[in-house]
Amino acid sequence: SPGSLAQLAGRTMLRLRGHAPRSSLKKLYKPQVPEYFNFARNVLDAWTEREKKPQSAALWWVSESAPEVRWSFEELAFNSRRAANVLCGPCGLRRGDRVLLLLPRVPQWWLLNVACMRTGTVLIPGTCQLTARDILHRLQSSRAKCVITDESLAPVLDSVASHCSSLHTKLLVSHKKREGWMNFNQLLRTVSSDHTCVETRSDDPMTIFFTSGTTGSPKMTEHSHCSFGIGLTVNGRYWLDLTERDVLWNTSDTGWAKSAWSSIFAPWIQGSCVFVHHMPRFDTTTVMQTLSRYPISTFCTVPTVYRMLVQEDMSRYRFPNLEHCVSAGEPINPEVMERWKASTGLDIYEGYGQTETVLIAGTFKGMEIKPGSFGKPSPAYDVQIVDDACKVVPQGTEGNLAIRVKPNRPFSLFTKYTDDPERTAQCFRGDFYLTGDRGVMDQDGYLWFVGRADDVINSAGYRIGPFEVENALTEHEAVAESAVVSSPDPVRGEIVKAFVVLNPAYKSTDYDELTVELQEHVKRVTAPYKYPRKIEFVDQLPKTVSGKIRRVELRNKEWGRS
Ligand code: ATP
Ligand code: MG
Repeated sequence: SPGSLAQLAGRTMLRLRGHAPRSSLKKLYKPQVPEYFNFARNVLDAWTEREKKPQSAALWWVSESAPEVRWSFEELAFNSRRAANVLCGPCGLRRGDRVLLLLPRVPQWWLLNVACMRTGTVLIPGTCQLTARDILHRLQSSRAKCVITDESLAPVLDSVASHCSSLHTKLLVSHKKREGWMNFNQLLRTVSSDHTCVETRSDDPMTIFFTSGTTGSPKMTEHSHCSFGIGLTVNGRYWLDLTERDVLWNTSDTGWAKSAWSSIFAPWIQGSCVFVHHMPRFDTTTVMQTLSRYPISTFCTVPTVYRMLVQEDMSRYRFPNLEHCVSAGEPINPEVMERWKASTGLDIYEGYGQTETVLIAGTFKGMEIKPGSFGKPSPAYDVQIVDDACKVVPQGTEGNLAIRVKPNRPFSLFTKYTDDPERTAQCFRGDFYLTGDRGVMDQDGYLWFVGRADDVINSAGYRIGPFEVENALTEHEAVAESAVVSSPDPVRGEIVKAFVVLNPAYKSTDYDELTVELQEHVKRVTAPYKYPRKIEFVDQLPKTVSGKIRRVELRNKEWGRS
C-alpha cells in the first residue's frame, strides 16, 4: 500500500539521517515485490481509500493562458478512470497495446499516464519537440497502435501516419475537431467513470522510454510495473525529501524518464503534490516568479537550468517555502552550487541515474555534500566501480560505474532495450550491469563522475574526464558554460579542447588574451596536464532537447567524422 511504501522509506530515511551503516540500510530497504502490482490501483486508489488522506492536492497545474487546475487524489482517480474508458472503449485498445503519447505539460498528460496503467496498455512518452522524421522512427520502431497528441503536432502525425501499418487510432487532445481523429476532451465527457483496473503482474511491461540520445540514437528502454511503481520510492523519500505535506516542482519535459521519476511516481508514492507550470517556452523569470509565488517545497531541475538561473539577479526574489533543491541528468558544477547557495541559502542535492534505472546514487538530505561528487549509492542498488574484466577496483581507482545484478537482479532495473537483444546483452557483463559511465569511489564511499566512457580523453597517456576541466573553466567569471572534448594532435594523439560560451560582459574581450588567461586559470585550479590546449569561443553548445550537452557532436566535428 502507499502507506507502507512511504513508511518504509521514512524509516530508512531516519536511519540515513542518523548515518546508519549501509548494511543496516540495506536490511531496512527491502520492499517485497508482490506477484501483481499496478500503481494506479495499489498506490493512487489506495490514497483515496485511506481515512487520513494526503493534505495537499495530487496535481496542481498553472498556466499563463488558462485557469489553474487542482485535483485531489479522488479527482485524479475519477478522471483517470474515465480516461481509461476512452482508451479501452472508443479507442479499442487492449492490454499490451503500445500508445505513443506526445503532449506538452497539460493535465491530460497525467490522466493518460494513469489511464494507461489502468488499462495495461504500454505507454511510450515522447517530447513535443520531435520532428516528423523522429516521430515516424518512433512509430515504426515501437509499432504503436495508438498515438495521442494535440493540434500542434497532429498535422505532422498525419504526414507520416500512412507509413505506419500498426497505427490504428489517433486521439486528439483539443477543444477542436480534426478529420480522422477521435477527440479525447469530447469522449471524456461521454464515458462512464466506472472502470476496473486490469490485474497486471509486477513484471508486465508498463512503459517504454526513449533515452535522451546524448551519445547516439535514443534507445527504447522498457520498464515493468514494479520497476518504477515501487523502485522510485527511493527517489521520493530519500532524494526528493518528500512527505504528504510537500509540493514538488519538476521542470522536466514530458518526453523523458525524469518526468516519470519526479512528476509521477516518486511524489505520488509519498502522497505529495505534483506542481506543474505549463511554460511552453523555458524562461528564467517565470521560474523565479513561480518559486516565489507558490508554496513549492522541493525544486527538481537539470544543471543547465541552474546554470541559467545563477546568471540572473536573484536578489529581487525570495523563495519562502523552498526547502530542498535537486539536480540530475548531467553533472552539476560546484561553482554553480556555491552561487545558488549564496542566493537562496540552499544546497543543491545531486542525483545520478539513467532512463534504464531509478536513482543509482545521490546526495540525500542530512548527508554531507562533497561538491563535485554525486553522493553515495542508493540503497536500491549495489553500486561498484569495476574494471573491464568486471573486477571491483580499489577505492580511489577509476573504472566503470556498475550495478550488481547477480545473484539477484534488482527489480528496479529496465527489462530490456525493446527488440534489441544484442544491445541489451552488451551492457550486462559478469555479475554487473554496466552504465557506460566512468567514475571513482573514494574512501568514504562517495562516487565521483569522470565522464561517459566515450567522452574520456586520452592525451599522451593521461586519462582526462571532461567534467573536471569544465568545472575548472566554470570557476572563471568569464565562462557561462563549456564543453570539453578530445581533438586530434600529431604528437599527443589527443589533446583537450574546450568550447566556451562567455558571459555577456566578456563577449567583446580580446579572445587571444582570454584564451591564455583561461588556460592559466585551469592549470592553477586543477592538475596542469588537464588544461585545454585549444579553446574555441562559441555562442551556444549543442544540446539534446532535454538540455544535455552533446559532446559527441563537437568531438565528431573535431575528428572530421560525420
Ligand atoms: P543516450 O543513452 O541515448 O546517449 P543519455 O544517456 O543522456 O542518452 P539518459 O538516460 O537520459 O540518456 O541519461 C543518463 C545519463 O546521464 C547517465 O548515464 C550519465 O551519463 C548522465 N547523468 C545523469 N545524471 C548525472 C549526474 N548527476 N552526474 C553525471 N552524469 C549524469
Ligand atoms: Mg545512456
